[in-house]
Amino acid sequence: MTRTVLVTGGAGFIGSHACVALAAAGYEPLILDNFCNSDVRVIERLSEIIGKAPAFVEGDVRDKVLLHKVFREHEIDAVIHFAGLKAVGDSVAHPLHYYDTNVSGTVVLAAEMQRAGVKTLVFSSSATVYGEPECSPIPEGADCRPESPYGRSKHMVEQMLTDLHRSQPDWNVIVLRYFNPVGAHESGLIGEQPRGKPNNLMPYLCQVATGERQSLQVHGSDYATPDGTGVRDYVHVMDLAEGHVAAVKHAGGRPGLLTLNLGTGQGYSVMDVINEFERATGQPIARQLGPRRPGDVAAYWGDPARAHKLLGWKARRGLAEMCADSWRWQRRNPAGYASRLGVEVAHSGIELAQEL
Ligand code: NAD
Ligand code: UDP
Repeated sequence: MTRTVLVTGGAGFIGSHACVALAAAGYEPLILDNFCNSDVRVIERLSEIIGKAPAFVEGDVRDKVLLHKVFREHEIDAVIHFAGLKAVGDSVAHPLHYYDTNVSGTVVLAAEMQRAGVKTLVFSSSATVYGEPECSPIPEGADCRPESPYGRSKHMVEQMLTDLHRSQPDWNVIVLRYFNPVGAHESGLIGEQPRGKPNNLMPYLCQVATGERQSLQVHGSDYATPDGTGVRDYVHVMDLAEGHVAAVKHAGGRPGLLTLNLGTGQGYSVMDVINEFERATGQPIARQLGPRRPGDVAAYWGDPARAHKLLGWKARRGLAEMCADSWRWQRRNPAGYASRLGVEVAHSGIELAQEL
């Protein structure tokens, strides 16, 4: 019998890729999303990749009545909880919105899971919970000192889930702390679609390459790193997606609470990423060396050994593939889901016909 996995935030960047990986592994993803940071057209793109339309419910994870109905109407085996807000700067400006969506949203979800007797939960946390790390690679046992309302909202949920598991030891909870997700599905049909000016390095590079932005501002070139620019652990979104499938498989029937890093264990500098991205696009990327970005850490990367040991999961895709796949998505969809090379979308419907 096929197992159904409720994927909250399944229309978003990581969630949509997780739906592809779940379907490839024989699971039925059931998406719940309010599309506050995603595009309903992702559902059609997913249908193309998966070969059939994924089930989806439009709604808010904080909507108790809706969640009750979803759990009543579907035989759900496990939940992957991606739905949330994720912009660090925005969380400083609108903390209550972040605590409401990220923390209260998880309270409502977990309460409805409990009511329905669904006890397997995979939660999207973030390496941002570590704050300024004492060392890299960062192990899961490192102190957590999140520095923004966003980071604190993730850390609060982690603590809440720990308490929940203490009181209900028959739950399977897996907390996944992601490092820097980049890349896109190899088809170029789904990918990251930031709203407005991108904050993150890879989508910004993509927009410089298409000419939408003039040049990349390198945020700091005087760090104590080999080339002076910031170092991060970039991880391909399909590797992350497969990490979620491994987590769901591991959790099946095995109560416990696990906290795992999902990263490659390897750090790359901003210059490393620019150089690899130039190779992928075959064109030079204009850049300017600018001041450090407030709040940025010089360098950090994760220790993924525990995820390998316990889930058998390891990131397989390197930086070249991350850049090539990000670029393919951007090149074929210059305006995200609203466009596709050679295809005009004049209304909210979706054009399926033309292959690239
Ligand atoms: P995303 O914004 O692309 O996806 C989140 C999805 O959740 C969106 O489709 C959005 O519409 C939906 N959503 C938001 N609030 C909702 C609500 N109240 N009810 C229902 N749906 C709602 O973000 P992403 O990059 O795919 O991130 C997914 C998760 O992973 C988030 O929880 C994020 O905090 C976490 N995370 C992301 C990163 C990253 O760099 N992308 C790093 C670490 C952790
Ligand atoms: N960065 C940059 N220019 C940009 C965006 C990011 O130089 O326009 C740098 C940033 O300072 C950091 C790295 O790229 O060293 C990754 O930043 P991103 O915002 O993608 O992820 P973060 O690790 O900060 O969450």
